[in-house]
Amino acid sequence: MSESLESLSRPSSPELDAILGKPFSVLDDGFIRVIDYMGTDASIVQAARVSYGAGTKKVHQDRGLIRYLMRHYHTTPFEMCEIKLHVRVPMDTWRQWIRHRTASVNEYSTRYSIAIDATYATQPSGWRLQATGNRQGSEGTLPPEKGDYFTRREKELQDFARSIYEERLEAGIAREQARKDLPLSTYTEAYWKIDLHNLFHFLWLRMDENAQWEIRQYANIIGHEIVARWVPLAWEAFVDYRLNAMPLTRIDREVIHALNQEGPHAAIQAAIKNGLLPEGFQPGDELKRNRERQELEIKLQKLGLPVPWAP
Ligand SMILES: Cc1cc2nc3c(=O)[nH]c(=O)nc-3n(C[C@H](O)[C@H](O)[C@H](O)COP(=O)(O)OP(=O)(O)OC[C@H]3O[C@@H](n4cnc5c(N)ncnc54)[C@H](O)[C@@H]3O)c2cc1C
Repeated sequence: MSESLESLSRPSSPELDAILGKPFSVLDDGFIRVIDYMGTDASIVQAARVSYGAGTKKVHQDRGLIRYLMRHYHTTPFEMCEIKLHVRVPMDTWRQWIRHRTASVNEYSTRYSIAIDATYATQPSGWRLQATGNRQGSEGTLPPEKGDYFTRREKELQDFARSIYEERLEAGIAREQARKDLPLSTYTEAYWKIDLHNLFHFLWLRMDENAQWEIRQYANIIGHEIVARWVPLAWEAFVDYRLNAMPLTRIDREVIHALNQEGPHAAIQAAIKNGLLPEGFQPGDELKRNRERQELEIKLQKLGLPVPWAP
């Protein structure tokens, strides 16, 4: 039996090998660097073909297979690839990051060691304003001359919190308790290991414009600088079929179909029938906020279609 199995060499990605250990800067004092990885595009193909007993074929066939797997949510072959990152992140960003439970994590311990003496500082032009349409989001920024005040106040707060922390340590108070009033802007570090399937899920959520700006900076580096080098075929498929894909719901399809076949009046009727517009709506009427309708409006714009109920 063993004589019929081919001998193997370890799959490696020369592009990723070239940046192993190299830190990519994020925010003012954060970074991401690759510590180790397992697998390449070829490992995805190899896993998918095991059922046929066939090995790697020509590159264009491998590309086609990976794109097919991505399109059809045949996800386990992507789990054959793993990556281990060393990240340095402000604690509030880390709190969002750590919600992704499918990674293995080991974080810097502020019980064991003195907390990292670095905090994320917001530039005067970086104070974002509360979004009006999305309670979780932001839009626009404070003018820098106003932001300057909040940047100075932030520095005072961070310095004050640090001085109290150090005062407690000097008095012999345990590190596990002394740390309790450190701000969430304090940097932490972790090793973060995840398989490619779950990493794509993380990137899909955290590269999205609805994710908070800070975590998006990290996700963009992981995607564009790391994954694109590591597994270029899988990355290309992810960009085409996940990142830039747009789901159409049953209601979206009904409205778009009506718009396409019968025009704006029919589309408005379909929107009324499905609760996106109030009964008796007439073009020009003022509309209350409706999140699902607004999401459809964005989809229509992306498709280059008119919004039938727009004033
Ligand atoms: C824009 C945005 C806003 C958010 N707002 C909030 C918020 O206001 N409050 C809040 O608490 N969180 C919030 N989150 C976090 C969010 O709810 C998820 O916890 C986070 O995005 C991790 O996603 P996940 O569970 O899919 O990922 P992972 O934990 O990596 O899991 C990946 C997948 O594995 C499966 N899985 C993992 N664990 C389980 C399980 N125990 N049972 C069943 N299936 C499992 C699921 O299919 C899951 O999608 C927000 C996230 C985003 C992107």
